[in-house]
Amino acid sequence: MPTTAAALDALTDLLGDRLNRSQSDRDLHGRSESHFKQMPPDAVAYPESTAEVAEIVKICHGAGLPIIGWGAGTSLEGHALAPRGGVTVDFSRMAKVLDIVPEDMVVSVQPGVTREALNTELRATGLFFPIDPGANASIGGMASTRASGTTAVRYGTMRSNVLGLEVVLADGRVIRTGTRAPKSSTGYDLTALFVGAEGTLGLITEITLKLHGQPEASRSAVCAFDTMAGAVDAVIATIQSGIPMARIEFVDTAAAAAFNKGAGTDWPDAPHLMVEFHGSEAGVIEQTERFAEIAEDFGAQGFRWAAKPEERTALWAMRHNAYRTTLQAYPGCTAITTDICVPISRLAEAVEETAAEIAASGLPGPIVGHVGDGNFHALLLPKTGDAGEWETAMKLSANMAERALRLGGTVSGEHGIGLGKTKYMRAEHGDAWDVMGAIKSALDPEGVMNPGKLLPGN
Ligand SMILES: Cc1cc2nc3c(=O)[nH]c(=O)nc-3n(C[C@H](O)[C@H](O)[C@H](O)COP(=O)(O)OP(=O)(O)OC[C@H]3O[C@@H](n4cnc5c(N)ncnc54)[C@H](O)[C@@H]3O)c2cc1C
Repeated sequence: MPTTAAALDALTDLLGDRLNRSQSDRDLHGRSESHFKQMPPDAVAYPESTAEVAEIVKICHGAGLPIIGWGAGTSLEGHALAPRGGVTVDFSRMAKVLDIVPEDMVVSVQPGVTREALNTELRATGLFFPIDPGANASIGGMASTRASGTTAVRYGTMRSNVLGLEVVLADGRVIRTGTRAPKSSTGYDLTALFVGAEGTLGLITEITLKLHGQPEASRSAVCAFDTMAGAVDAVIATIQSGIPMARIEFVDTAAAAAFNKGAGTDWPDAPHLMVEFHGSEAGVIEQTERFAEIAEDFGAQGFRWAAKPEERTALWAMRHNAYRTTLQAYPGCTAITTDICVPISRLAEAVEETAAEIAASGLPGPIVGHVGDGNFHALLLPKTGDAGEWETAMKLSANMAERALRLGGTVSGEHGIGLGKTKYMRAEHGDAWDVMGAIKSALDPEGVMNPGKLLPGN
């Protein structure tokens, strides 16, 4: 087997200065947005084509070197770190929109294109790609984490919006999954297998996505509630009434206070809901009126409506910046962010138990969530370097995972497993986790694709 040094030399022969071994670039690709310590790779490769990706994989596979995909590096569970070194494959030079087919409402893209860049290219077509994790993530990273976000309640997650993929397997073979047809019943659904595989089964080099029509009209609002239970029950009642919401987000009192401090808003000290409706002019007005009636029944007050595009953009920018705004509001703290997802009927219980436990712990821990999907996040904020507070935060996070499972849910609705949540996989999946391990062994027997993440014994 070639040594690591020989493999890196072969990669330099292939890529020239697009194989970067500098400490600064390795460090850049060895850190994450969340609390994990730095884990740099041995080198960073910047391919420009599927053929180059296949060659990179063959060289690394031959030398037993780990291969880690990198989109925008915004994942939150240490997914793209390199705990065993190896080569990080950065897709920023494979960021083209390849083919827009408006009549089929599909687009094929390279994995490095970001969701914002894609929507900029789509603007003139009247179509858009709705999945919105807040961060300006890459489509390859979003497919690999099965991302979703504020709009999933209306448009689904990456699972329902990826039609097909091109994937480079661990041995360098290139396969295509899916077609441009809206549906298919031909065999195992390999597209679904690679969506959410976190780069542990292969590197995605092309993605075909479903597109949606830009709505004729949109309207957003924010309103306050007397109690957290009122806000959550209003969400459940709105969903059960069949009102087609485009977004419905919960913001607890602590998060609202952080917005006020960090984003200069003047929201009351109370739990809030942020909502958005898409449709025709008349449809949107009807939906907003029906929502307001339901919300008022649960104690909503102080509605602020945003109909102009710039007002809506400002409102959602604030929601998307919640992570950073909250961090700024708590200087000297480290963020441990965690997401769980429960059936909608158990949402009120899950949020209330979580909030009560965080309050009792004395740690700051604002809660926000895509509650229309039963999904919410806590941003736990121990003081940096305080071992006691760190342990408390980890315990709160573990209890959230346990709570999600007890209530029939999942330990992650959207952030995924990475390094941080493998410890809960057995409890959530039982023997099915070993089946995931068997699929991994079949496709990557040497275990070179993103080792240490997601799988048993990986
Ligand atoms: C402020 C903030 C808010 C967020 N909010 C949300 C949210 O609301 N919803 C949500 O779902 N997520 C959210 N996230 C998490 C993050 O944005 C998503 O996980 C996103 O999908 C990651 O995309 P990325 O391009 O940054 O991927 P990366 O972090 O670069 O990679 C993620 C994983 O995918 C693998 N990978 C990347 N590209 C490829 C490829 N081409 N082939 C195979 N594997 C690949 C990596 O190895 C890694 O395992 C948030 C993050 C931040 C910082």
